[in-house]
Amino acid sequence: MCLLCNSLSLSRRKFISASAMFGAAAATGLKASAQTPPASTSEGAPAGALPTRGEYLVRNAFILTMDSTLGDIPRGDIHVRNGAIVAIGPDLVAPGAEVIDAKSMIALPGFIETHWHMWGTAARNMAGDDESTGYFPYSRVLGAVFTAEDNARGVRLGIAEAVNGGLTTVNNWSHNLLGPEYADAELQAHKDFGARALFSYGYSRKTGQNQTLPLDDVARVQKEWLPQLEGRVTLGIASRGPENNTIDICQKEWDTARKLGVRVTCHMGTSQKVLDLRHGVQALSKAGLLGSDLVIVHNTNTTREDLDLIAKSQSYLSLSPFTEMRTGFGYPPILQMLAAGCNVSLSVDTALLCGNCDMFAIMKAMQNVGDGAKPSEFALPARRVLEMATIDGARALGIGDSVGSLKPGKRADFMLVRTRDLNMAPFTDPVHMIVQSAQPSNVDTVFVDGRPLKRAGKLVAYNVDKIVDDANDTMDRVRAEVARQNRTAADVEKEMPAQRQR
Ligand SMILES: [Zn+2]
Repeated sequence: MCLLCNSLSLSRRKFISASAMFGAAAATGLKASAQTPPASTSEGAPAGALPTRGEYLVRNAFILTMDSTLGDIPRGDIHVRNGAIVAIGPDLVAPGAEVIDAKSMIALPGFIETHWHMWGTAARNMAGDDESTGYFPYSRVLGAVFTAEDNARGVRLGIAEAVNGGLTTVNNWSHNLLGPEYADAELQAHKDFGARALFSYGYSRKTGQNQTLPLDDVARVQKEWLPQLEGRVTLGIASRGPENNTIDICQKEWDTARKLGVRVTCHMGTSQKVLDLRHGVQALSKAGLLGSDLVIVHNTNTTREDLDLIAKSQSYLSLSPFTEMRTGFGYPPILQMLAAGCNVSLSVDTALLCGNCDMFAIMKAMQNVGDGAKPSEFALPARRVLEMATIDGARALGIGDSVGSLKPGKRADFMLVRTRDLNMAPFTDPVHMIVQSAQPSNVDTVFVDGRPLKRAGKLVAYNVDKIVDDANDTMDRVRAEVARQNRTAADVEKEMPAQRQR
């Protein structure tokens, strides 16, 4: 074991060193200060912003509407105009619409993920293999030296990767907001990059355990930002929840959220210890804080009693199978959650730990965790998992009436997936093809709110080179600053011993 650890540590140091050299070379010519990257309104996006909404006719796709009435349409068209789905069905007539030939493609709603610390995408894979670089302390070390622009770079990288893989809505669970300017920078990235989002305003690395997240600033953001975001970005709060803060603090946060009419998300049930000692879900229930405006994340350590409370209150659940397994929260108890009648959605959590935001892989992992737990080949059907990644995610974020399935009147958030790629052929069961075979590289076209953001396999709305250069630049500077401060994971644990800030 020691040999393995030593070997991994050594590899990791070598990697960091090589990456720093590469990043430095890549950043040559950039005049950004090593300490303070320039603030930006639209870095990584082309000048003049997003593609306009137009009129399109997607022709002859196999359509998985994920709508219980429309069902699957083996050969159908989707008519899109001014951001909305106008009609779905075979042989539609739409004179003047740009035709998109989709005869060998599967059309389906864009994926909707429900919990992602997007700032950390700029620190992808930085959680290591030993205590000194473990996710919780090390993300705090890194996050403390992120600037507002660094956070925004993480959001831009994350959105570009998301859209590339057919993910059209994210819940940006923003928990590295070191000041109001951080929220502004992230929201500007959301405005510029066009994906749909719930922006969940969270606490910061500096927020003490007995403090609320900055609730005044949530109200400011609602007033200043929401009118600019066309309904495409909605607002919520990201609370530490009763397992990492007091129930009184939670009560204050929920009261404000409910007064403002915004959603609440919090982490729960991340260890057996928490379950034994505090019964967080029961504390929330007793305080009247469960409800249909709440998304509970993880809850991998749970009881049937807790799940019944969640289901009865119509609260939502979000599972991030890769980080839950990677960081030791445990196997997602998906079958128990579904058996209790809970609405379960799927999420990325953090690329710092799980590496990417591939929703195809998340779905496949979820199905296999479910089947393996039973164990039965038939425990968790592919279509049920696809519902979690689409319509159930939309419901969790409170936008089920406008996205998450394809039907006339809903917003045009969808993707086209090629079926003639090597890992997809031959054409068999489209739902199994999407859940078991598909990868982001098979995504040909992505529309969000009627805007084409990916066409013919290429992101058309983003400057990918710039996004990647910026992320490398951020990581080089952040690592240099951490080294300069000589602040370690152990220092972080000493500063806040009672708290594993998630
Ligand atoms: Zn999380």
